[in-house]
Amino acid sequence: MMAGSSNKTYRMGLRLRMLQEQGGLCCYCGVKMDMRVASNHPLAVTREHLKPRSQGGTDRVGNIRLACRKCNTARGAYNWLEWKTMRLGEWDEIAALERSA
Ligand SMILES: [Zn+2]
Repeated sequence: MMAGSSNKTYRMGLRLRMLQEQGGLCCYCGVKMDMRVASNHPLAVTREHLKPRSQGGTDRVGNIRLACRKCNTARGAYNWLEWKTMRLGEWDEIAALERSA
């Protein structure tokens, strides 16, 4: 399935390109990420699968978004859509409160 695409140079190049496509920003919180920090640093770049691999999601570019380590850790066991929806839901509630105030 993924034959020939798992060497480190390829992955690094792909990650850099994806980072540039997202403007270097986390897909959740919009923080500027940093490829040079340690992988456990809050600004480290992590990969988010839109469709989890446990549900048949792939490592193809179309199924991956980049997020900072902080969001990746905060998301925990939720999948990308659940997490994003939960966060957007919160924001919608806040906006509704502001409108009705
Ligand atoms: Zn983030």
